[in-house]
Amino acid sequence: MGVATVSANIHPGAASFVTKKGKILINNKWSDAASGKTFATYDPATGEVLAHVAEGDKADIDRAVAAARKAFEPNSPWRKMTASERGRLIWKFADLLEQNTEEFATLEAMDNGKPLTVARAADVPLAVDILRYMAGWATKIEGNTIPISVPYAPGAKFFVYTRREPIGVVGQIIPWNFPLLMAAWKLAPALATGCTVVLKPAEQTPLSALRLGELVVEAGFPEGVVNIVPGFGETAGAALTAHPDVDKIAFTGSTEVGKLILHAAAGNLKKVSLELGGKSPNVIFSDADQKGAIQGAASAIFFNQGQCCCAGSRLYIEKSIFDNVVEGISDQAKKIKVGPGLDPSTQMGPLVSEEQLNRVCGYLESGFSEGATAAAGGKKHGDKGYFVEPTVLVNTNPKMKVVQEEIFGPVVTATPFTDVEDVVKQGNDNIYGLAAGIWTKDISKAHRMAELLGAGTVWINCYNIFDAAMPFGGYKQSGWGREMGHDALDLYLQKKSVCTML
Ligand code: ADP
Repeated sequence: MGVATVSANIHPGAASFVTKKGKILINNKWSDAASGKTFATYDPATGEVLAHVAEGDKADIDRAVAAARKAFEPNSPWRKMTASERGRLIWKFADLLEQNTEEFATLEAMDNGKPLTVARAADVPLAVDILRYMAGWATKIEGNTIPISVPYAPGAKFFVYTRREPIGVVGQIIPWNFPLLMAAWKLAPALATGCTVVLKPAEQTPLSALRLGELVVEAGFPEGVVNIVPGFGETAGAALTAHPDVDKIAFTGSTEVGKLILHAAAGNLKKVSLELGGKSPNVIFSDADQKGAIQGAASAIFFNQGQCCCAGSRLYIEKSIFDNVVEGISDQAKKIKVGPGLDPSTQMGPLVSEEQLNRVCGYLESGFSEGATAAAGGKKHGDKGYFVEPTVLVNTNPKMKVVQEEIFGPVVTATPFTDVEDVVKQGNDNIYGLAAGIWTKDISKAHRMAELLGAGTVWINCYNIFDAAMPFGGYKQSGWGREMGHDALDLYLQKKSVCTML
């Protein structure tokens, strides 16, 4: 197991990228951290050091924000670019990413641990797609003309129109579960709207964002439009969030850190968008296509090692089919091939870090100590790396931490329900509201449920379907704002009313 056993097949670009020290990108130039410090990123399949990366902190963030501000000045090359030119540049960026699919998929598998097959089929193509989708929007950011009739100015005539203008310098802080895709979700709308960016990747997985920075330069974005500062959350992330010259923060990560970000952003009242945690209910009715529902519910939780904010982690199964469905999902869980991401036969990789491994195992212990039992899995897998067995917990009750809190690992709780009213009550009994799943052949029940569940995305007879055109974001404590779709543009635009007396 581990990189060593499959190293002969590693993409040469990715293999050589990890041997170089990762640096900071400011003004299209790569540099060390001002402090000279570096940090290590680890191979989650072995726990061994994978690469060393410059550890940006406040001094580097200051420099990056100054570069982004300069690039946003009224007569900068970026501001003078036409919308069409901007769109074509983003499209070129997408083309470069697509041409390097294999290298990015490999870096993602090495740094995050996810199966290479998944990164190749999902992470990279979805990242390319959001860039292309948003490239198309660059030329379609329009305002309105508005007929006004001012009561205190009888007889006067006015011409009123609105402009939708970029917010300015944007700080973007992203997590480690989909390192490349989250960078693309953030960069694409910011660039389409004409903002400039300081991006901070997660300290666990900085590599694909740094490689993406090379493509920013290769594509020909003007200096300072995209700056990338790897570093830790409490230092680089906190400096970016509190920076008085940053106009907006876009954050994806835990709800706990989301709340810290909100406080830190208050200093200069930056705009904030947040994509946070989840504990999504996935509901299987007795009239569902059971085979499809079982497969769908298993992949809803086990995809990406369960490290998805929208993972279907609370499974509700109608009483009459409870035992069958639990048995089916447990069989699926036991069949999943767990192994290093670079092994082509791997279906589920390790968790991203030792911290996550301990966190997930801590939740399992808490569940067992409160009386839950495992119908499948239930413990760490192997003696090397950060693997956890795909786990199905039963005999839970609604008060248990494993039912209420986000585990962010391959652990699903299965609970029986009696009818729509019962399952809507249980499904909504949570602080989060990111996603929900419904499995039934009864279309009116499905759409009734879709209305009743408090979630930003509801999947019916499917799960984890994403598209650049479909908005994604949270109800309740799962976030503020919607990423993807044209809604995402609004996160990076502000509206100006222009009123002329004729
Ligand atoms: P997790 O707990 O799953 O690692 P986090 O929410 O801590 O997720 O991390 C998501 C991103 O937020 C990472 O890029 C991390 O560095 C950053 N981060 C963590 N703490 C802070 C903070 N106090 N201020 C700004 N960014 C932070």
